[in-house]
Amino acid sequence: CGIFAYMNYRVPRTRKEIFETLIKGLQRLEYRGYDSAGVAIDGNNNEDKERNIKLVKKRGKVKALDEELYKQDGMDLKVEFETHFGIAHTRWATHGVPNAVNSHPQRSDKTNEFVVIHNGIITNYKDLRKFLETKGYEFESETDTETIAKLIKYVYDNRESEDIRFSTLVERVIQQLEGAFALVFKSIHYPGEAVTTRRGSPLLIGVRSKYKLSTEQIPILYRTCNIENVKNICKTRMKRLDSSTCLHAVGDKAVEFFFASDASAIIEHTNRVIFLEDDDIAAVADGKLSIHRVKRSASDDPSRAIQTLQ
Ligand code: GLU
Repeated sequence: CGIFAYMNYRVPRTRKEIFETLIKGLQRLEYRGYDSAGVAIDGNNNEDKERNIKLVKKRGKVKALDEELYKQDGMDLKVEFETHFGIAHTRWATHGVPNAVNSHPQRSDKTNEFVVIHNGIITNYKDLRKFLETKGYEFESETDTETIAKLIKYVYDNRESEDIRFSTLVERVIQQLEGAFALVFKSIHYPGEAVTTRRGSPLLIGVRSKYKLSTEQIPILYRTCNIENVKNICKTRMKRLDSSTCLHAVGDKAVEFFFASDASAIIEHTNRVIFLEDDDIAAVADGKLSIHRVKRSASDDPSRAIQTLQ
């Protein structure tokens, strides 16, 4: 029902500040109604080399989640993250009762390799779930959303090359999905990166930087952003560009990104926003945001779509 995510890139933020930003974002979305709430944040402290993602989920009000966050073991509130990506969600259950397991973020597995938040409904989730279960993926919730978390792990586990991009995984995932969605992904395999996409459900991205921002149009779909090739200086309010878009602070400087299902959660942070369109995939890596449009899967028949996964 409500999506809010926050990335600070080269902008040091304590864990407490990150919690506060995420909770405030969710509170701005509370008016839409919901039954449970949750967040995913980095679980490690800076000195801890091992990457891990911590999930905190709670049935009930955002206030209850807020209290729960501060009760977590090993979550040093003063730890500072130069770069961090946190995701948060308020759920209005469509598939599965309102409880902590069914609330979002949903995860790929018990070690939280991939986590996802979702607004909307995946209409072909039963077929996808059946397919993934035959491949040995074990489900813990009753949600349609968990299918997405498992599916991205399936695509990752079956990747043809080691250096596959996070956005490529998401692209393959959404080609299998039917229904409506706004999604935000986080993964231990791609620390400091964010990928988000939508079809039918709204999603927008706010950008804040005290440095000049540049946009670059990339005529060829899927071409990566080239920071040397800076062209148009972006205006206060950015328009969605027709071709693939890449946006970054000039010279790789500090920048913050806010992802939300509703402008009310972003407006207090920045007035620079981009509204994603259907089948856009927006990815942030190394502080650079790039957006490209995905071609829809050729087949509308889910069983065929599943076969193309194998
Ligand atoms: N269909 C998903 C679920 O029931 C997402 C619902 C929502 O938009 O909050 O978990």
